[in-house]
Amino acid sequence: METTILVKSSSRDEPYAVAVSSAESGLAIFCDCPAGEWGKYCKHKMAIVLADERILYDEEQRDNFSRVTKWISESGYPDLVQELRESEKALELAKKNVKNQKEKIARLMKEGLK
Ligand SMILES: [Zn+2]
Repeated sequence: METTILVKSSSRDEPYAVAVSSAESGLAIFCDCPAGEWGKYCKHKMAIVLADERILYDEEQRDNFSRVTKWISESGYPDLVQELRESEKALELAKKNVKNQKEKIARLMKEGLK
């Protein structure tokens, strides 16, 4: 079973098409944007996984969007998104720590360190 949802593009007027296919092997998600054509991560597929309705091209996408959102909620994607969010948080914390340590080193270089 495959469902296609038209989504907004930030770079052109025509929509992109995100196709979600449900098979024995699981939910596969494709997009025909330049990144998606290469099978890469793209914001269109991610918006569908996140059930972000702002990405929808028009109101005609609602039914398919609802169907796909239900499939996704019953899949492993929400856990993957959670893992991604945790990694992003850890990265932000690491960036903050690096910044603080650099400032501390700069301060000690100015004040002196035994
Ligand atoms: Zn895309």
